[in-house]
Amino acid sequence: MVNLELSEVEVRERRLKSIISYHGTGQDLCERSRNRQLTLTERSFGQCSDCSQGCGQTLTYVIRGAAVIDHAPIGCSSGAGAASLTVDVSARARGLPPQEVHVLSTNIQEKDTVYGGLEKLRATIYEAKRRFDPSAIFVLSSCAAGIVGDDIESVADELQEELGIPVVPVFCEGFKSRIWSSGFDAAFHGILTRIVKAPVKKQPDLVNVFNFEGSDTFGPLLGKLGLRANYVVPLADVETLEKLSEAACTTHICETLAMYPAAALEQEYGVPEVKSPPPFGVQWTDNWLREVARLTGREEIVEDLIQSEHERVNEELTQVREQLKGKRIYIFAGDSYAHSIANMLLDLGLDLVGITTLHHDQTTDGGTESLDSLGNLVASKGEIGNYSVCNKQPYQVFKLLKDARPDILIVRHMNMTITGAKLGIPTMNDGDVNISAGYDGLVRLGKRLLDALKTKKLFENISRHCESPYTTWWLEQADPFFFEKNTGGDSAADTDDGEL
Ligand code: SF4
Repeated sequence: MVNLELSEVEVRERRLKSIISYHGTGQDLCERSRNRQLTLTERSFGQCSDCSQGCGQTLTYVIRGAAVIDHAPIGCSSGAGAASLTVDVSARARGLPPQEVHVLSTNIQEKDTVYGGLEKLRATIYEAKRRFDPSAIFVLSSCAAGIVGDDIESVADELQEELGIPVVPVFCEGFKSRIWSSGFDAAFHGILTRIVKAPVKKQPDLVNVFNFEGSDTFGPLLGKLGLRANYVVPLADVETLEKLSEAACTTHICETLAMYPAAALEQEYGVPEVKSPPPFGVQWTDNWLREVARLTGREEIVEDLIQSEHERVNEELTQVREQLKGKRIYIFAGDSYAHSIANMLLDLGLDLVGITTLHHDQTTDGGTESLDSLGNLVASKGEIGNYSVCNKQPYQVFKLLKDARPDILIVRHMNMTITGAKLGIPTMNDGDVNISAGYDGLVRLGKRLLDALKTKKLFENISRHCESPYTTWWLEQADPFFFEKNTGGDSAADTDDGEL
């Protein structure tokens, strides 16, 4: 049950019983998750992490016409440069007008952690209004602001009234959650509580599509059912967000990103969530289309559409499958989307030698079983023999890949391509998730993999010039999960710690 009366949404480890460490099989993880048997445990050695504020930034920085204030030390805004580079390119690729990010930092310093940073925040909100004349201002909290207890909500309330635009506090302090995706929920909670309005006029042909800054692939697919894609929240403007409640239904590219706002829109405004896996892979696209059609009253035309789409892509799909058959592939990506990629790769006939996801939610918002993406994957494609959860620890992934020896690695974050490159494994970053959606997306993914396989020599060359940063001790360790503690696995790490 979503509670929009509260200032903050609970972090995932409490709300969804999420975990960041596991190794075993897909089926086992499904079964143990059903009873919430697994507890959030840590590694005794951590090399790196992301943070919730980063996920909050990923969504809010790229809302058209809004301004964002990182109430934080300046280093927390390091993502602003990358967002500036990508947002305009993404907007143009989507056929939208040019777009800029409008980000300011309060630059919290030592003195502010003693005397508080609220005066700085107030001044920065006025400055954002003066410079950008935004239609909304998001205030993102940080570790420093959270630790000293700056009451950003009171300042937001006060200035929202004075400035006459939504001033949205986003509680995404990095230290608060071990699951950085909690930052998505924090940003959505702010949007749901301060921006989304009750519907004025329902739009029966509008489908909310929660996504990142991806290509326009849902639009053409939904268009075949006479529907329009309402892409949110990146690249959307504040007015579009206000009307999320007017849509006929809500779908998303993965549960990890958007099951929270989808559940909230259904509960608060009766906008039903498409409760079948997203359209990645043939069967999942069939089922997704059927569910969208059911929710929008288009059952009569959907079966013909599915049949004609199958016929249209059949020849190309068969060719791609023949060329990819038997190639060994490893997936390293966020929770739900990793399952969607796996479903597509198995559809393409590849040999899936392992999956590592960045965290695992043991349940979904609303507890809907049909949204359990791992359950759906295991049900449709069978057991995943080599399955692990690891919050991006290169030292661990290095060993996992060495053991699995894939022909190709597919990742969802650019920085994770480096580990594959160091090992000489052709590595493909699946950055634009939308591009693989639908029947055409599956064919496109197959062709992109075939292109990536041609880079084998390049990656082998890179590997020859890379020195491993790890000690012989670690490289000779048999167990990649040596530092994993108390997960119920059979790791040797319960009693012994080593050094990298
Ligand atoms: S973990 Fe804390 S200090 Fe680090 S970037 Fe995130 S909010 Fe800033």
